[in-house]
Amino acid sequence: MQGLMMDVPLSISSLIRHAALYHGDTEIVTRTVEGPIHRYNWGEAHRRAQQLANALKRLGVQPGDRLATLAWNTHRHLECYYAISGSGAVLHTINPRLFPEQIRYIVNHADDRWIFVDLSFVPVLEKLAADFPRVKGYVVLTDDAHLPQTSLPNVVSYESLIAPEAPEFDWPTFDERTASSLCYTSGTTGNPKGVLYSHRSTVIHSYCVCAPDALGISSRDTILPVVPMFHVNAWGCAYSTAMAGSKLVFPGAKLDGASLHELFETEKVTCTLGVPTVWLGLLAHMAETGKTFSTLRRLVVGGSAAPLSMIVALEEDHGIDVIHAWGMTEMSPIGTTGVLKGKMLALPKGDRYKLKMKQGRVVFGVEVKIVDDTGKRLPHDGVAQGELLVRGPWITSGYFEDEAASRAAFDSEGWFRTGDICTVDADGFVQITDRAKDIIKSGGEWISSIDLENAAVGHPGVAEAAVIGVHHPKWQERPLLIVKAKKGAALTREALMGYLGEKVAKWWLPDDIVFVDELPHTATGKLMKSKLREEFGHHRLPTA
Ligand code: ADP
Repeated sequence: MQGLMMDVPLSISSLIRHAALYHGDTEIVTRTVEGPIHRYNWGEAHRRAQQLANALKRLGVQPGDRLATLAWNTHRHLECYYAISGSGAVLHTINPRLFPEQIRYIVNHADDRWIFVDLSFVPVLEKLAADFPRVKGYVVLTDDAHLPQTSLPNVVSYESLIAPEAPEFDWPTFDERTASSLCYTSGTTGNPKGVLYSHRSTVIHSYCVCAPDALGISSRDTILPVVPMFHVNAWGCAYSTAMAGSKLVFPGAKLDGASLHELFETEKVTCTLGVPTVWLGLLAHMAETGKTFSTLRRLVVGGSAAPLSMIVALEEDHGIDVIHAWGMTEMSPIGTTGVLKGKMLALPKGDRYKLKMKQGRVVFGVEVKIVDDTGKRLPHDGVAQGELLVRGPWITSGYFEDEAASRAAFDSEGWFRTGDICTVDADGFVQITDRAKDIIKSGGEWISSIDLENAAVGHPGVAEAAVIGVHHPKWQERPLLIVKAKKGAALTREALMGYLGEKVAKWWLPDDIVFVDELPHTATGKLMKSKLREEFGHHRLPTA
């Protein structure tokens, strides 16, 4: 027997319609790429999104067409999100930090028809436009007064594109499984792979993000997503804030500690989200200036592991509740979030931090399993380590027009292989030991590069640390620690070894330490281990 409930298709346009109807006066504030602060509200955002939807119709955009953005977190980018997906086309968010060859590949692979581009990234596209025969034109996210001289063909400013249009648009209704947006994983090897979200997956994921045990986004919050809208839809913030009716604050192009802190204070931000590198920058600024936060209460960190020293500094020096989260582009991205359960609140501080160091616990909607090399399931006892596989309604079922990559990504039961090695405990807390390809295999045992990096970053003289496995004649692989020291710190190999000796098991200690001026990062701000392996893979260990 079937239930007798309405089968109303889930749609992205319903999110902004709701926000405009019931949170129309709630503010959206942007530090614009042009400079000044722009201020409006959900009501105005909806009107302008409708103007853009009308403009897209005038341009001849068809359902399913891919329209790309190369843009910072701004109000105009938000309007693109809703107008493009809402009108039945596919929003393709491009990470502007990708290598030019990668951008060339994905624009053509996605078959983008129009590209919306921020002033900062016009030069990137000028060099590539000749290779984009199928792109019909470029919309620069600014007004005519700021439109630069450019060699891009068929260029129009965003403001002049939408200006003649009416602020009413009949959002179409369609199957909720219709594609809504496309985001390519940065893929450190091989070509980037496209993850194609649907209206259904996006709306269900938004419910999850808003839940109090996930990120708890509500109408009382002022949210500042530092995580870019080109990186998995700002971890879903662009949608969940509309669902909840939160105030939104967009940092535009300025992501340094001082600029962020200023916005946190002037806009009374309560919750922010970003990768560890951003928070390291913010904490350095706070330490230099002796400032703290007056309204910020929650900080979500993910994308790579948050070191203990960072969590402790945020919680103890600044009274912030740190939520450590884990996910992937392929997972929309939320998989686990580190909100402690009631029974954990009274635990001794050390034990609570041990839990906060983990990547969070499994949210409803995501199922996880861990398996050994033969695919056999391992227990969720917090000890057994294996590869993590997931399934759920906001997890990809295959890469966009990439059969080979899709075939490799799933097991025989259809679970998605994350490529992460982890433990899962009985409360559902996942602890990522490493990426499968980064873990160091030493004499049949595994050493977690993440744990070693976190330990090293705890040293007051270390700005950033990376660990890779280097060939060893006896042990197969041994860890090499590569360190960027803090400005002015007199850091020696011996002092750092001594410090680590007190933090990790003896057989985990790196066989050597190399000091560098800079560590390489991927387009999403993660350590680029592949580059480090290229450079230091043949490093001669003194122990070899
Ligand atoms: P990309 O693939 O573009 O680098 P993703 O955000 O999709 O970007 O990367 C997902 C991977 O990032 C995960 O599989 C995991 O290895 C890593 N990751 C994400 N969050 C965490 C975290 N909190 N701790 C450790 N690793 C993380």
